[in-house]
Amino acid sequence: MVVVGAGPAGLTVGNILRAAGVDCVVLECETREFIERRPRAGVIEEWAVHALDRRGLATTLLARAERHTACAFRFEGEQHRFEYREVTGSHHFVYPQPLLVTDLVREYADVRGGDIRFGVRDVEPHAVESDRPAVSYTCPDTGRRRLLRCDYIAGCDGARGVSRAVLPEDRVRVARHDYGIGWLALLAEAPPSSDCVLFGVHADGFAGQMPRSPEVTRYYLQCPPGDDPDNWPHDRVWTQLRRRLAATGAAPLTEGRLTEKRVLDMHDYVVEPMAVGRLFLAGDAAHLVAPIAAKGMNLALHDAFLLGDALAARLTGADPNGRALADYSQACLRRVWDYQEFSQWLSEVYHGAAAGDPFRTGTSLARLRRLFTSRQAAAAFAEQYLGTAERY
Ligand SMILES: Cc1cc2nc3c(=O)[nH]c(=O)nc-3n(C[C@H](O)[C@H](O)[C@H](O)COP(=O)(O)OP(=O)(O)OC[C@H]3O[C@@H](n4cnc5c(N)ncnc54)[C@H](O)[C@@H]3O)c2cc1C
Repeated sequence: MVVVGAGPAGLTVGNILRAAGVDCVVLECETREFIERRPRAGVIEEWAVHALDRRGLATTLLARAERHTACAFRFEGEQHRFEYREVTGSHHFVYPQPLLVTDLVREYADVRGGDIRFGVRDVEPHAVESDRPAVSYTCPDTGRRRLLRCDYIAGCDGARGVSRAVLPEDRVRVARHDYGIGWLALLAEAPPSSDCVLFGVHADGFAGQMPRSPEVTRYYLQCPPGDDPDNWPHDRVWTQLRRRLAATGAAPLTEGRLTEKRVLDMHDYVVEPMAVGRLFLAGDAAHLVAPIAAKGMNLALHDAFLLGDALAARLTGADPNGRALADYSQACLRRVWDYQEFSQWLSEVYHGAAAGDPFRTGTSLARLRRLFTSRQAAAAFAEQYLGTAERY
């Protein structure tokens, strides 16, 4: 087995295969130090943590992650706290993605003895529609090309990887959506300004605050797509955050040095089907969901559980006909489309009031108020926000 990419998806697939005694090589173009520090996600849904735990992959996470039981919306100058655990009995885990990646690499390479090759270049999958596919790459130490023949390839190389590009165009459809909105993604060396996630809906644009650890907080500010982060010096960032997150009686924001500042253009895509021949895509390689509802890593983990289990069953003989592999794409896509739809719905709540259109302002504020006036609306929102539906 060859797994391309050592993100949450690839490392989870690798760990499942190692636990089943399947030989596997993970190829990663970055260094171990780099992937263990790359900041991104932080919110993991409870079902995903339980699924990691069942595979022996959540011991450190369960000991260290914070549990969040509520979020708050700030609009029209007031704060409205939404206690989602009261509605669903479920909570979110907050655990920065680099910590999860660190745990997964350690378990795969140092505990389960998995083969992982960092810093590889020019990775190329071959003959994916044959019975004996292969992956070639340039070894960073010798500069030589190496060829790995395998039974299956797991393409877990994220949004900018190479796996998706080898799928024949006439066999897959790529559905895309562009929100026409940018988010300035910030990390501040500062304790959180609130014990829960904050969403600010404001005529100037959306603002968000997400606690990451007692010392680090993520903030987001809506901005034009393609905006230059240099247009956002320290003072402008904090002035806009204070303005967009203002609410009567709220404590002032805890300010700090900004250690990450980059603009994300909000867009989504979905590749259907997620597999051709013996190449199976998982995570961002197969579908990107803008970080509006903090869903991307959760979907990557969901794919990885299904793919890892299906490959292990096929390769150990428990599923000799590969039925689970045949169902893999369909089984993933149901949750993928559900989460995409929720992200679109939530996007209008966050961004409608800043569209400069009084009609959209009115309807997006009506969506928000409904969460606090209707138990049914609150329950539906909480189920989607936490990913707790019984079926997808
Ligand atoms: C600012 C931000 C905040 C986010 N917040 C959240 C959140 O709160 N909750 C959530 O669920 N999601 C969130 N996400 C999304 C989440 O980070 C991604 O969905 C997740 O990383 C996907 O995991 P993956 O394993 O599919 O891909 P990746 O994490 O991108 O991993 C792919 C790996 O493949 C490697 N690679 C790429 N190309 C090659 C190649 N050619 N050869 C070899 N290796 C290659 C990469 O270096 C990388 O290590 C956020 C994303 C961003 C940008």
